[in-house]
Amino acid sequence: LSSEQDNRDFVVAVDIGGTKILACLVDGNNRMVDEHRFLTGTHRGPRAIVENTVAVVRDMVEKNEVPRSRLLGVGVASAGPCDSVEGAVINGPNLGWQNVPVARWMADALDVPVCLGNDANLAALGEQRYGAGTGVENMVYVTVSTGIGGGIITDGHLHSGGSGLSGEIGHITVQAGGPLCTCGRRGCLQSLCAGPALARNVQERLAQGGSSLSMFQPLQLLELAKSRPEEITPHLVFEAAGRGDALSLAVLREGARNLGIGLTTLAILLDPEMIVVGGGLAVRWDQYIAHAVDFVKANTYPRSMQDISIVPASLGDRAGIVGAAAFARDRFGRDAA
Ligand SMILES: [Zn+2]
Repeated sequence: LSSEQDNRDFVVAVDIGGTKILACLVDGNNRMVDEHRFLTGTHRGPRAIVENTVAVVRDMVEKNEVPRSRLLGVGVASAGPCDSVEGAVINGPNLGWQNVPVARWMADALDVPVCLGNDANLAALGEQRYGAGTGVENMVYVTVSTGIGGGIITDGHLHSGGSGLSGEIGHITVQAGGPLCTCGRRGCLQSLCAGPALARNVQERLAQGGSSLSMFQPLQLLELAKSRPEEITPHLVFEAAGRGDALSLAVLREGARNLGIGLTTLAILLDPEMIVVGGGLAVRWDQYIAHAVDFVKANTYPRSMQDISIVPASLGDRAGIVGAAAFARDRFGRDAA
């Protein structure tokens, strides 16, 4: 008998985003044998979107001649807070969804088991199984981009919490009474150090009369943007900082410090062996994430925690779909508990 997983076991993985949906057919050796990407079309509403997804999954399974008996089930990753116990999207800000029972709708239509989780939670699982955290039993994944999300792996398993809402790292309160967050609360980690927060902080300081001239050369990027502050993007802040702009550098340092506070909280609370950082801002490692890492190393408790490794994610935007496949296999595979 081969130690490889039995190749009779197919799963379908689906990643539902605000703009696009990706569906993949994955064989028993975890090879993606087919994939289909299509526009979400949020204006059509959840029922039509789920029906469209069901049709895509059905076509893909039929086209590849996978009989029903060889399909273990479907794993769905979705943006926004999700109840992974009920398989429902609780609140998808990018989707405009409220309490949509995606897993039940899909399972009824396809007549196979369907499970659903938050995309950052499932990205954590993906990175732990096949990415930067392969084989690490206790790991936290944090994604830093337009928002901040994450997932917690404990003893090799995704920690879901009582209602599947575990890992909402971006909404840890870091500064009481701080900036308004997309969740309606104030001072969340996300409201202090995700991409939009960096751009907003630069805008506010320019409005207060802050200068974005560097000591050595007049820096025109932010001066140009001063007349059109709405055009200051996180990308521009990093570009300006890279050319020595003092204001941008100060904003990045402050953001990184707040991110460091969030990561330190996770390190002390969970004692993970590794923190994996992904998302659009993880590519700005030296300019941004590294400073947060320095903060963690200087502030962990006890000192032995200074050995914690904090590393970049390796699966990129595939982490969610890879994790969705692993999630379905965990739930519905023959070895499932
Ligand atoms: Zn929040």
